[in-house]
Amino acid sequence: MKKVSILVPCYNEEKSLPLLYPELHFLMDNNTSYEWEILFVNDGSKDNTINIIKALRAADKRINYVDLTRNFGKENAMLAGFDYVTGDCMVILDADLQDPPSLIPQMLEYWEQGYDDVYAKRASRGKESWLRRKCSLIFYQILDKSSRFDILPNVGDFRLLDRCCINALKNLRESERYTKGMFCWIGYRKKEIIFDRGDRAAGESNWNFWSLSKLAVEGITSFTTAPLRIATIIGGIVAFFAFILIFYYSFKTIFCGDEVKGFTTIIVAVLLMGGIQLLAIGILGEYTGRIFNETKKRPTYLASYYNESKLI
Ligand code: UDP
Ligand code: MG
Repeated sequence: MKKVSILVPCYNEEKSLPLLYPELHFLMDNNTSYEWEILFVNDGSKDNTINIIKALRAADKRINYVDLTRNFGKENAMLAGFDYVTGDCMVILDADLQDPPSLIPQMLEYWEQGYDDVYAKRASRGKESWLRRKCSLIFYQILDKSSRFDILPNVGDFRLLDRCCINALKNLRESERYTKGMFCWIGYRKKEIIFDRGDRAAGESNWNFWSLSKLAVEGITSFTTAPLRIATIIGGIVAFFAFILIFYYSFKTIFCGDEVKGFTTIIVAVLLMGGIQLLAIGILGEYTGRIFNETKKRPTYLASYYNESKLI
């Protein structure tokens, strides 16, 4: 019998889990042709999440959990999940019911047809501000245009992955992770299904504007070096015009005896150049910072428990 794992990263989800579990229970009991596993990754929750998970496991042995030593962020929690799932395939699901478990049977059908990565694309994005929607669209466009493989817009982490994809993802162990890009990077046979993303069932979204911007910078810097190239191109263009202006004004001063005027022009030029230089240094810094973090070769997460056994 094939085994299907459902991976649920959880951070402060004490209110969502009691709503999520009945849905998963219903799903598993209605699809008895598969063996099921639910793997909860407790990402250092500060509320009662871990105790709820333990209570669920006590009642249902299809549930496994990994307890991380602190909050490592969803991207790292997912890697922990990739390491510990035991299924022939895996569905990544948010704990807050924004990803409807009712879509899983359809994903399984496509999996049986031979697709390795069945991803759910959002037809709508639930209750999100106009600004967040616009920003994420622009971000996807930048990423897609500048990387050598297709980046899918409006596709989250909600997807079914075959064992071959799980193994491939386990090999990508960089510490600053942008998993959405990795799903595209690994390739394999992909299939899209469309769904309406609802709102959070309970609790608060763990993302704010800054953490999303950080993820966006992480996405861009880990998948493309285009910003460095753009900085070079802008630098080249500015230098080219500066060169022409040098000749023009030197000629004018020497042969026409024109005295130097235009304090404003000079200030504007200096500020413009200063700004561009700082921006370029900042971009360089982003990449250097990533190199610094990667060279430390720290593990991307630390887990203290797998089910009842302490990891040492
Ligand atoms: N999550 C996590 N670690 C974190 C933040 C979030 O494991 O540091 C989990 C969270 O419990 C949820 C999923 O990631 O299951 C998506 O989080 P959230 O709903 O806050 O994100 P959004 O739906 O707003 O993108
Ligand atoms: Mg959510």
